[in-house]
Amino acid sequence: MSNTDVCEKILYSEETITNRCKELGMQISSDYENKEVTLIAILNGSFMFISDLIKTITIDCRVDFLQVSTYGASTQSSGKFTVKKPLSLDIEGKDVIIVEDIIDTGFTLVNLLNYIKRFNPKSVKTCTLIDKPHRRTQEINADYAGFTMSKDEFIVGYGLDYAQKYRNFPYIGILKEEMYNN
Ligand code: IMP
Ligand code: MG
Repeated sequence: MSNTDVCEKILYSEETITNRCKELGMQISSDYENKEVTLIAILNGSFMFISDLIKTITIDCRVDFLQVSTYGASTQSSGKFTVKKPLSLDIEGKDVIIVEDIIDTGFTLVNLLNYIKRFNPKSVKTCTLIDKPHRRTQEINADYAGFTMSKDEFIVGYGLDYAQKYRNFPYIGILKEEMYNN
């Protein structure tokens, strides 16, 4: 099945995403000037975002990956939080930024923050490529957000999946409803 059969429209093009990554990287580099930052990318969804974001960061930085699971093969949160791949780096006393693909209900981020804080970092901030504030059930917001969505649409591409597929698209598109509603 080709990309155009899956998405009803492209929401954020490759170029739009690249430009926004640059802005986020510049903002982070300026906010953490003369400091070292540890970026913790949440797998699998943020693998493309972290690789573009990190190229635009000009201060000292380290990167680590954490894999958690809160979702099944559907478009709704399963309500369970499990750590599948723990951190490799020591983050005690470090300035940490959690890098997420998308914040929807906020459930994953609340759990991630609680988990990360157990390792006693000096500070923790959050950076998400996509924010869906209207879907929030938890009182939490990202410190850095690439794009804010106002409509209730399910998106795929640029790391984001539906049932583990479509992560390879270089853009973010709105998934056709018929792809998950039958
Ligand atoms: P939350 O815990 O409800 O905030 O959900 C966060 C997770 O939901 C993300 O890491 C994604 O895996 C998934 N998710 C939420 N909305 C979308 C979407 O529109 N497309 C793809 N994945 C999504
Ligand atoms: Mg996912």
